[in-house]
Amino acid sequence: MYLEITEYRYINHEMKHPEKRVADIIFRMRTGHAKTKKMLKRWNMTDSSDCNVCGVEEDLQHIIMECKKYETARSRLKEQVIKSGIQFRIKELLGKVAKNKQRETVKYLGQYVKDTGLIDVL
Ligand SMILES: [Zn+2]
Repeated sequence: MYLEITEYRYINHEMKHPEKRVADIIFRMRTGHAKTKKMLKRWNMTDSSDCNVCGVEEDLQHIIMECKKYETARSRLKEQVIKSGIQFRIKELLGKVAKNKQRETVKYLGQYVKDTGLIDVL
């Protein structure tokens, strides 16, 4: 019985609608629980907290603002964010913006999560 429930939950999670998965990731990002390597290391789920491309600690600042892996997606994100009159900084992207900019911020960051494949990581 227990196994069946676990299995059901697993399948349910995997099949979850992409928009719901993105919403979950943005929630985790905002609450500091996104599965970056920094957090995985803290939770003893990996040996190294370093980005496997850049060799520096992989936290949200790195993934969103710096990592070489995601340069193309980041240019798009940056362009959209600046065009909307939002400052291109981690604080703003994680929700420290005016109420009327919240929706756009979530939309653009969500697009970045999908463009980069981070939807399957974080
Ligand atoms: Zn990197």
